[in-house]
Amino acid sequence: MNYSVFVKIVVLLCCGATALVQAAEPLSRDEIETAINAAYAAYKDLQEGANADYIPALAKVNPALYGIALVTPDGAVYSAGDVKSEVSIQSISKVFTMALVMDEKGPASISGNMGVDATGQVFNSIVAVEQHQGAEMNPLVNAGAITATSMVSGGTREEIWSKILNYYNAFAGRALRVNEEVFASEAATNQRNQAIAKLMYAYGHIKGNPDQATDIYTEQCSVSVNARDLAIMAATLANGGRNPVTGVQAMKNENVPEVLAVMATAGLYDDSGKWLYLTGLPAKSGVGGGIIAVSPGRFGIAVISPPLDAAGNSVRAQKAIAAISNALNGNPYEVEPAM
Ligand code: GLU
Repeated sequence: MNYSVFVKIVVLLCCGATALVQAAEPLSRDEIETAINAAYAAYKDLQEGANADYIPALAKVNPALYGIALVTPDGAVYSAGDVKSEVSIQSISKVFTMALVMDEKGPASISGNMGVDATGQVFNSIVAVEQHQGAEMNPLVNAGAITATSMVSGGTREEIWSKILNYYNAFAGRALRVNEEVFASEAATNQRNQAIAKLMYAYGHIKGNPDQATDIYTEQCSVSVNARDLAIMAATLANGGRNPVTGVQAMKNENVPEVLAVMATAGLYDDSGKWLYLTGLPAKSGVGGGIIAVSPGRFGIAVISPPLDAAGNSVRAQKAIAAISNALNGNPYEVEPAM
């Protein structure tokens, strides 16, 4: 063996050893089950928060509904509580429509249109739109989300809608359906979103029909999901865009980091910074009471519990996800020094 081959072998061995030191230990079934069951029990009787009621149908959802599901990249599904009852996906849908637009048109189509920054304002703020004429927003607040929906290509409303729903289905691994009562309830009361869409049209961010964009956006928010569906959708993001249960590549692998970055920046409304500080996890909440969170390469997790705090995030879901992730070392920023 000549000297340079010897040096290469030594370098390879050292790099391999470092990689071994830095790679997180795989999670055992026991550890995961213990963490989920403990969090379920700890917050089951918590009586804080209230259902969203600005969409009338959401006020009627059972506030006691509480389910936790966690999915690992090998496709194992763990759960506690009610993971069968469904709620409307609401703002969690924004993540997947953003991913669809990135897949169709590239991530620059998002950053270059509505932006990828936190607005510092509430999710349906008109002041935030006015401040920068619809730029410097992000696809997880309503103005950016309705704009993202308007960017999905298709000749007819039906074509656009079925593309969006099929895209969500690939993440969930089953055919999802719309909760027609929630759709009708929000469609009858979404004048503010209609106004936001018209402003985004006026400022040139929405190119097509703003009323159609708002209508499709409202329908996407009414897609019905349970905690298991949401956890598989989150785990697909944790697994480089491939659904770990079905094996289907639901989105382009190269766009996953940008999707997670926007979730980290703006996933939990005005409390996104506090959430990231607490957990390090890209996440997204919806006013239906669901939250998804992603520990890249480790797990996707979802909790559904309708009562929300003042920022609009499910009280139990935040507590349960933070506790479980903490127990499983899910924070991607936690790294042991190499030496
Ligand atoms: N459809 C809801 C709205 O536009 C989504 C809100 C949310 O979940 O944050 O108001």
